[in-house]
Amino acid sequence: MTAEVRTVEEWTKPLPQLDGVSTEYWQAASEGRLLIQQCPKCGHKQWYPRALCTACAADPEWLECSGRGEIHTFTVVRQYGAKPFRDELPYVIAMVQLEEGPMIMGAVTDIDPDAVRIGMAVEVYFVKAADDVGIPYWRPV
Ligand SMILES: [Zn+2]
Repeated sequence: MTAEVRTVEEWTKPLPQLDGVSTEYWQAASEGRLLIQQCPKCGHKQWYPRALCTACAADPEWLECSGRGEIHTFTVVRQYGAKPFRDELPYVIAMVQLEEGPMIMGAVTDIDPDAVRIGMAVEVYFVKAADDVGIPYWRPV
């Protein structure tokens, strides 16, 4: 599936460092696709991108996700001194359990932070941070 990709006038947050392992992940995200890795040898699924399967050390392959999951746990950030994050307080950072299994961390938006609950169904969208970099965010389904 292809999720919404939002654009911003200027991305002022830190950018990920693209490398031989993660470049495809960030590029796919900039196109609205969420990738995790799956091992062709043992079937293990993992996020974040790594050079090896963490279960058997084989070369992992990319697996495109549904972009849906549920909130496993979260925190509401109410104090943060540094820009640009302090301008967005309060905000929610969650561990999202993907339908495919692995957990992924990200911000939950489009909802009052005090209304977020464990087990809430969420879906991914992306913010385009650079030409070849998308950052995954989460919102209620
Ligand atoms: Zn494996």
